[in-house]
Amino acid sequence: PEPILEVRDLTVHFYTYAGVVKAIESVSFDVYKGETFALVGETGCGKSVTSRALTQLIESPGRIVKGSVIYHSDNGPIDLLKLNEEEIREIRGKDIAYIFQDPHASLDPLYNVGYQIAEAMVVHNTVKDWKDGFKKALDILKRVLIPDPESRIKNYPHEMSGGMKQRVVIGTGLTNNPKILIADEPTTALDVTVQAQILELMNKLKREYNTTVILITHNMGVVAEMADRIAVMYAGKIAEIGTAKQIFKNPLHPYTQGLLRAVPNPMTKIERLEAIPGTVPNLIKPPGGCRFHPRCPFAKEICKQKVPELKEVEDGHFVACHLY
Ligand code: SF4
Ligand code: MG
Repeated sequence: PEPILEVRDLTVHFYTYAGVVKAIESVSFDVYKGETFALVGETGCGKSVTSRALTQLIESPGRIVKGSVIYHSDNGPIDLLKLNEEEIREIRGKDIAYIFQDPHASLDPLYNVGYQIAEAMVVHNTVKDWKDGFKKALDILKRVLIPDPESRIKNYPHEMSGGMKQRVVIGTGLTNNPKILIADEPTTALDVTVQAQILELMNKLKREYNTTVILITHNMGVVAEMADRIAVMYAGKIAEIGTAKQIFKNPLHPYTQGLLRAVPNPMTKIERLEAIPGTVPNLIKPPGGCRFHPRCPFAKEICKQKVPELKEVEDGHFVACHLY
């Protein structure tokens, strides 16, 4: 498999009054061309911070402390973390597009959806002019399966349902034919039947546009539905990486094992891990050694002392745990 993104040693800290929050620490992974790569874990594990840091979308008091994000663009490899403001903005929305949880927040209430979709293309000069932009916007509404697109194109966001708005946001994300689509909890704000339709739509569009997808979610049901490969995060670090089959059939990290045990029905949401006693650690003063040791049923002395490195234990299956 050919990597499109190589993330190495990515570290983000937030400088708050209470202290330095070590939100993510030495996160490394590859994303392959054309796959759906899922980043999973509980709320606060650093999966959103990781996805945002990929294109420097970290706001003060957060800072990317170190790391590199090599993007294999059509013009060769680029370290996205070395680009200046203007250069990274050019990449964002064009080569790499984001979809966030709340479709409402992603749309401007003052403009109709046709204008907003057209604007995404005009800004990046991927259409000749506004007229061309509106024409393409209509095509996009058709592709994301909005019923009656000719009249819907003039709708304002408040005139649409949550599911329809998320279709518009997804369509806007795809306007410039991005190489990578980063979707952060794209269905979490929607009700269950609409969730399934949106996931189906994302799979359809991924095939049509040949886009690589990075999916951020805490929902193992969504992961099972969508992911080719999975990275499990815990307390700002990668615990395990593998194919969907490796992770579901043979989870190695005690945290992953707990995560899967906590979800007897994969379509239910997990906010907390009932199967694993203890709480998510404070990231101002994270536990030493393995950050999972206070909650781990297998913790040994070394787990308190030494940070486990991410090691490949079978082909393509990596785990950060002293048991291996
Ligand atoms: Fe548990 Fe130790 Fe493995 Fe951490 S390194 S998950 S504490 S066994
Ligand atoms: Mg999040």
